[in-house]
Amino acid sequence: MARSRSFERVLVTGGAGFIGSHLCRRLLDEGCEVIVFDNLLTGSMSNIQELLGNPRFSFEHYDVTNYLYVDGPLDAILHFASPASPADFERLPIQILKVGSLGTHKALGLAKAKGARFLLASTSECYGDPEVSPQPETYWGNVNPVGIRGVYDEAKRFSEAMTMAYHRHHGVEARIVRIFNTFGPRMQINDGRAIPNFFTQSIRGDDVTVYGDGSQTRSINYVSNLVDGIWALLRSDYVGPVNIGSEAEISMLDLARTIIDLVGSRSKVIHRDLPADDPKVRRPDITIARTQLGWSPAVDPIEGLERTRDYFVEALAAHS
Ligand code: UDP
Repeated sequence: MARSRSFERVLVTGGAGFIGSHLCRRLLDEGCEVIVFDNLLTGSMSNIQELLGNPRFSFEHYDVTNYLYVDGPLDAILHFASPASPADFERLPIQILKVGSLGTHKALGLAKAKGARFLLASTSECYGDPEVSPQPETYWGNVNPVGIRGVYDEAKRFSEAMTMAYHRHHGVEARIVRIFNTFGPRMQINDGRAIPNFFTQSIRGDDVTVYGDGSQTRSINYVSNLVDGIWALLRSDYVGPVNIGSEAEISMLDLARTIIDLVGSRSKVIHRDLPADDPKVRRPDITIARTQLGWSPAVDPIEGLERTRDYFVEALAAHS
């Protein structure tokens, strides 16, 4: 008998991470019972502190590359475990490849056993350094498999292939979200990505490090918009990757200047070497999200950056 898709009981791998923890909050607010598995490699207990007292929330310190066991039914598995900052690509390459391959395999096996819907957190990195812009889901990408970013890009491309294989071969209900650059409260101070670096440096009055000439672009999306998109995708009938991101494309030099202004900082911009294979442009085509999910970003980037500034000001004050 097909289980009802009311999502009463769900597992979130990586639920103590930046995106995972916001997602858990939303799932609880929607009435789900939420189980989190996270090995806290890049996640943190402070991200889920506010959830721990909730009787519908439980946390297990667990590495999801190992066999997964959950007692009782599961309606959905949302696979969000993975380091995701380019700084981690050099620091944690094997862990990234393992969680994308072994972890995805284990999570899909559990979804199959439980008859649960499976939602994969994938990434715009599947497009690599794109030769097409904006990037529609039909673009197959331009990825260097042996470059430093390859560990993440290929792990996620493998995850997508494995997810579709379980869907086609085992009938697992599959959803794939391709997440574009997302920011907001709970990003770690030492995360290493552009937005946490620019805020941390501006608030401290340090030089703001722009890699290369800063002409490379990203489209930045506030985290609550992403969570809206994930929740809509989880409930939708749409199988196949869906881009969730903002169309607000900005160069890294302009982003650095915007953040310095928002902080009211006297920091100056300095330039550092551009890392290998750093994508020159990135912007999602969000036609599918708009038409299939009725989704578009509700919070604009500047409002999101203001909220994020307030978070970093507090986080740095607590840290010092
Ligand atoms: N970047 C930068 N300064 C930093 C950190 C990152 O100029 O201190 C650049 C990085 O080279 C890339 C862009 O900002 O071009 C976005 O990098 P991020 O690490 O946020 O994520 P990515 O989109 O590359 O995965």
